[in-house]
Amino acid sequence: MVQVMKWEENIRRVVPYVAGEQPNKPGMIKLNTNECPYPPAPGVQKLAAQLDCDKLRLYPDSYTTPLVEALAEYYHVEPCEVFVGVGSDDVISMAFLTFFNGKEPILFPDVTYSFYDVWAELYRIPYKTCALDENWHIRPGDYVQPNGGIIFPNPNAPTGLLESLDTVEEILQANRDVVVIVDEAYIDFGGTSALQLIRKYDNLLVVQTFSKSRSMAGLRIGFCIGNEKLIGYLNDVKYSFNSYTMNLPAQVLGVEAVRDGAYFKETTARIVATRERVKGELRALGFTFPDSSANFIFASHETIPARQLFEALREEDIYVRHWDKPRISDFLRITIGTDEEMDRLIGFLRDYIAQNGQDK
Ligand SMILES: *Cc1c(COP(=O)(O)O)cnc(C)c1O
Repeated sequence: MVQVMKWEENIRRVVPYVAGEQPNKPGMIKLNTNECPYPPAPGVQKLAAQLDCDKLRLYPDSYTTPLVEALAEYYHVEPCEVFVGVGSDDVISMAFLTFFNGKEPILFPDVTYSFYDVWAELYRIPYKTCALDENWHIRPGDYVQPNGGIIFPNPNAPTGLLESLDTVEEILQANRDVVVIVDEAYIDFGGTSALQLIRKYDNLLVVQTFSKSRSMAGLRIGFCIGNEKLIGYLNDVKYSFNSYTMNLPAQVLGVEAVRDGAYFKETTARIVATRERVKGELRALGFTFPDSSANFIFASHETIPARQLFEALREEDIYVRHWDKPRISDFLRITIGTDEEMDRLIGFLRDYIAQNGQDK
């Protein structure tokens, strides 16, 4: 028996979120944490090489003003409607702390980003999950019940399924008295953003990130856009927590990334094209999957268990994501890499399935 010490009784204990592994092997194919396979915009690479290290003596701008202004300009909103954080995980965590402070449980899908329940536990926020339907779609009717707030990703993760703006609006219309957060980590791969609804719904917060579609997971930049009042409350909490969260290089390079809209559109379009091609190839190999609008495919094979495929791929230094969780243990979440990376993945799967997947 492990003895529990007196001083341990009042400790805030949590079961932390488990991120996908971050291997670093030469020649590996990393398709497990939904990063972009292409480098950041050329201007970002150039600026990174020219960073003035003397500036690192000083604290960065705690308001991240240039980045807030660049985002406001790009998305045609006011700077007072933008909040920037250290990755969208930081933004969403701050939003949980700020907005989900009621007695009723907050609501989110049962199959979704597995950080939501961790933040709810960390901040002692009551929560309830709503089961996705048999086709992995959100049932808007589930969100018509007393609640303390709502969050869901659109497209959802790990399913990749996009909900229409009508569905998002249906949920908003039924929930005018709580904050509704739409986590749009993957919206740039083909979805319609709920950003156009922020003036209509002052309780809507739209969260996006530079990690997936802007090739900058390593810099940690996320942001959210919403009504000025929402952003004000979020800032009050943020500046009560830690004023200087975003480092100077991230601020400078983030602005440069936002400025290059053309490169951003080009790389996301390339990923979408690769995704659509890979869907056909996976289907031909006996995989089924929800029709992804994200930069990953959530696939299940007709005969070979996902765990077995996950291990076999790993042996080849091809990393995908698998969860031993109810409802999703038969699935692999495969990030869309470059065309060459996907060809190697498909080639391996073709051989492996030919050898191991004959009989049902
Ligand atoms: C990746 C991801 C995030 C967080 O990404 P950051 O790197 O922290 O910006 C948030 N929500 C969902 C659904 C994600 O998949």
